[in-house]
Amino acid sequence: MTGQPEAQVSLSAVEVQRIKADFEILEHQVNGTDVVYLDSGATSQKPRCVYEAEQHFYENANAAVHRGAHTLAVEATEIYEEARETVAKFIGARTNELVWTSNATEALNLISYSMSNASLGRGGEEAARFRIGPGDEILTTEIEHHANLIPWQELAFRTGATLRYVPVAEDGALRYDLLDELVTEKTKLVAFTHVSNVLGTITDTRRFVDAARKVGALTVLDGCQSVPHLPVDVKELDVDFMAFSGHKMLGPTGIGALYGREELLNAMPPFLTGGSMITVVDMEHAQFLPAPQRFEAGTQRIAQTHGLATAVSYLQEIGMDRIAQWEEHLGAMLYEGLSKIDGVRVFGPSDAPRIGTVPFEVLGVHPHDVGQYLDSRGIAVRVGHHCAQPLHRALGITATTRASTYLYNTEEDIKALIDALGTVREYFG
Ligand code: PLP
Repeated sequence: MTGQPEAQVSLSAVEVQRIKADFEILEHQVNGTDVVYLDSGATSQKPRCVYEAEQHFYENANAAVHRGAHTLAVEATEIYEEARETVAKFIGARTNELVWTSNATEALNLISYSMSNASLGRGGEEAARFRIGPGDEILTTEIEHHANLIPWQELAFRTGATLRYVPVAEDGALRYDLLDELVTEKTKLVAFTHVSNVLGTITDTRRFVDAARKVGALTVLDGCQSVPHLPVDVKELDVDFMAFSGHKMLGPTGIGALYGREELLNAMPPFLTGGSMITVVDMEHAQFLPAPQRFEAGTQRIAQTHGLATAVSYLQEIGMDRIAQWEEHLGAMLYEGLSKIDGVRVFGPSDAPRIGTVPFEVLGVHPHDVGQYLDSRGIAVRVGHHCAQPLHRALGITATTRASTYLYNTEEDIKALIDALGTVREYFG
């Protein structure tokens, strides 16, 4: 005995059944059978405690935050700020390093527009780090969700900077070997995803961060598909910013967050302006509060922050390490099981670490038909380009079918998908 606590093991089938019982919607009947939900990459289902938390907020504490002197306003503010503390701790950040946004898309646009404002001279010398213009470069990758691509295209358009990207190899693996060539003294920002929403592959973040640090470029991580599925610590990852969405991690829709290093957030000019983000205003000027409030203009999504914090506590109670191990197991089952089906082609490198997300095509059958056939058997998957048209183009296809898991998925769910796909080509003749 070493005296060390035993290493935690993956979830057991019994535990997953217990977890599943917390998700009422998974008892929902679709075409005469319990739904098999394999579309968590798009949005996750919510355990009962999450929507009960929102209801509890509306029944007991609803008021606008940071403004009123009355008891309900004080209680609402406490709930709102406690939620920030819970979610910040979950990703290894300090409380004032977490800005609430509607979702990851808004978080990424926040940085893009803040940098535009800095480039117009807003924020003075403090904001110099965020200025970008002709001759400067922004680097992203070919596997990005449109949410981590178009804001940078637009930033380049508004400022005259140039957008470059790390391409993929034929199998969809990122060409890390080109990083040294692509990151140069001109690079001001490197934006990349932690986990591909299409391929499910986990990025080697260290290589991106090291390359960016060498030239003093800012790093932006899209944590949309990693924060729900893996233990994530922003200080260990050593990134400057990270965006993620609540609805993909058991939380409500309408709430997401931007992590930013404290000193960077306090030097960055705001994106949205108005009430709740200022100290002094006259008819010509306004002075802004420090982060995170300077980025939270207007009345905020208070019940949703409480719902998200409840989701985070639920995940923590189970343990992110254990969730990650379970999903790695489901992902391997999916990848291997699908690869063995005659006429099914699986996309993505076979040797990359991945979460439980696997895209595939059934030869001769359109992904929309595959999706409808699976739906007729109660199985929910995603079809289309999954907001990643450039990646699909690089893979030589226009659409795929994507199965994506979460902690409530069982081995039987994976078997149901594999069984159904065994007959899909026969069905379509
Ligand atoms: N980035 C990735 C990798 C995603 O998977 C998604 C959503 O699918 C987004 C960004 C955008 O998330 P949202 O629509 O919640 O803003």
